[in-house]
Amino acid sequence: MVVDLTQWSASDAVDAVASMIKGALADVCLSDGGARPVLGVALAAPGIVSRRGVLHYAPGLAWDSPDLHALLRRSLSDVLDPDSPVLVDNEANLATLAEQHYGVHPGVSDMVYVLADRGVGAGVLVDGRLFRGAHRSAGEVGHVTIHMDGPRCSCGKRGCWAMYVGLDALLDRIADGRRGRQSTSWPRGSPPTASDVAAAARRGDALAVEALTAVRSYLAAGIGNLVSMYDPDLVVLGGAVSTAFVDSVDALREETGSWLMGGQRLVDVRIELSTLGPDASRWGGVRAVLGQISQDARLLAPVG
Ligand SMILES: [Zn+2]
Repeated sequence: MVVDLTQWSASDAVDAVASMIKGALADVCLSDGGARPVLGVALAAPGIVSRRGVLHYAPGLAWDSPDLHALLRRSLSDVLDPDSPVLVDNEANLATLAEQHYGVHPGVSDMVYVLADRGVGAGVLVDGRLFRGAHRSAGEVGHVTIHMDGPRCSCGKRGCWAMYVGLDALLDRIADGRRGRQSTSWPRGSPPTASDVAAAARRGDALAVEALTAVRSYLAAGIGNLVSMYDPDLVVLGGAVSTAFVDSVDALREETGSWLMGGQRLVDVRIELSTLGPDASRWGGVRAVLGQISQDARLLAPVG
């Protein structure tokens, strides 16, 4: 379930999510008399999330550090056992967990997962464990400055990477280009998606090719930076933006190679598109709940 959080207060957003969860539970779990218990709930949040589930900061959201864990626990109190885990984590971190266990190279221990969507973040896996940093804000790679005199970002900084490789950056290039020229390749009506851009490039549309080439250059430079920082075995690109590069991932790999420092070799780091699509964070939530349960044997007791 995905909610456009900018339209809601934190409390209303959690209530809306809880309502959707209850609807899903009614369909899947409770309709057979509760024979299949709800093991737990995980919520993926776009920002810096404390160990206790407080969303300390999310660029673009005017929320005042809501305690998402407490809000969700309270909203689900009528359907969820008090002992069942309710987890709140950063969406890129959960997607990284999913990639680690269900992705293109399950079991990988050193990986950077770049979630490039409307926002851009990353999960960093070091020796098989998520690297979270001293204040749980590691992986905010979308807000690394790449142009000191660049435009102001929603985080307050200038020239953040997200402003050049995020979904809006890609689609704004298309929108600007369409205003400036006649193109018969684009259907009128609803704005294009990242997949539409890939399809248009496949047809040879010059505007789509230009936009993808420009965003790819920024992606390649940024991924090269991440390789320099973390020396991963694998970099996975996920989120909506990744769907624009289904036909050009080889070009992305090649261009990334030009941004590696001497002594680093492209052959040593695999660069892949996520195969989990928009479900990555959700599968990560499943994995996080199962991991929590495995640490709490009481919840594995037979039902009935
Ligand atoms: Zn920023």
